[in-house]
Amino acid sequence: MTTDIASVALPDGERIPKLGQGTWEMGERSAHRAAEIAALREGVALGMTLIDTAEMYGDGATERLVGEALQGLRDEVFLVSKVYPHNASRSGVARACEASLKRLGTDRLDLYLLHWRGGVPLAETVEGFEALVRAGKIRHWGVSNFDTDDMEELFATPGGDACATNQILYNVARRGAEFDLLPWSAAQRMPVMAYSPVDHARLPRRSPLDDIAHAHGVSVYRVAMAWVLRQSGVCAIPKAGRVEHVRDNRAALDLALSADDCAALDAYFKPPRSKRPLEML
Ligand code: NAP
Repeated sequence: MTTDIASVALPDGERIPKLGQGTWEMGERSAHRAAEIAALREGVALGMTLIDTAEMYGDGATERLVGEALQGLRDEVFLVSKVYPHNASRSGVARACEASLKRLGTDRLDLYLLHWRGGVPLAETVEGFEALVRAGKIRHWGVSNFDTDDMEELFATPGGDACATNQILYNVARRGAEFDLLPWSAAQRMPVMAYSPVDHARLPRRSPLDDIAHAHGVSVYRVAMAWVLRQSGVCAIPKAGRVEHVRDNRAALDLALSADDCAALDAYFKPPRSKRPLEML
């Protein structure tokens, strides 16, 4: 395995790894801490240098763990954090960002996302993000859990089309975004970031995933990851708190699903034929 992995382009042309690492639920149990840090560091060593976290996770404990895990590695990673909607006012994003930077032990975020849409007008959040860009505190900004109508509204907001990505729930069992949100994003040349790519470890127990995994001699998780990763304009951030799971996810980039594999998955996990509201976890 090499550390040289596939990438996707942000709208400004900067490339980010197609496969990164999530961190939700890390840093919450001291017994898991060493394994979680080892897992994140192994992922970085394998090229999974896109790291996603949020001020919400563990009430700040996750950002602290990420900061510890990235000691000596900060310049190798593309670091993403998220602001709570209730902190997304112009002054609120500045305060929340400063607190995240402190917990993460860094002087800038590579990407800062609005975690989901709340009551603060989008124009104000965009202004707050743009001020952070000018101050050198964040390099890009984006959103999360925005459905197509939210994205249209964002792009109609002054400065809103500078959005770098939309982080959404997307995996083989949750395909609603394929109907409209993925095509809309592709038309803007804006990648989506798939969260819960193995459905938070709740993929169905009996499905064609089992037969495909058996035929390739790999795990069901690797098949589900390969299914997400085969699509252009999509990057993914599986969370794995164990080194062996990180290695398995990394290996998904090298698993080529056949047309028959994909047809079997389509027959069971049916692609949407009409609009489905964007799901979120
Ligand atoms: P996920 O990545 O789909 O699943 C994580 C679970 O799957 C963990 O229990 C993990 O186990 C297990 N797992 C991962 N790879 C595995 C493998 N190869 N073999 C066996 N088990 C494996 O779910 P997620 O954590 O919900 O989503 C990923 C990341 O997306 C989050 O951590 C977070 O950063 C982000 N996220 C964002 C939002 C949002 O609203 N923007 C919402 C949800 C998630 P171990 O930990 O034991 O390895």
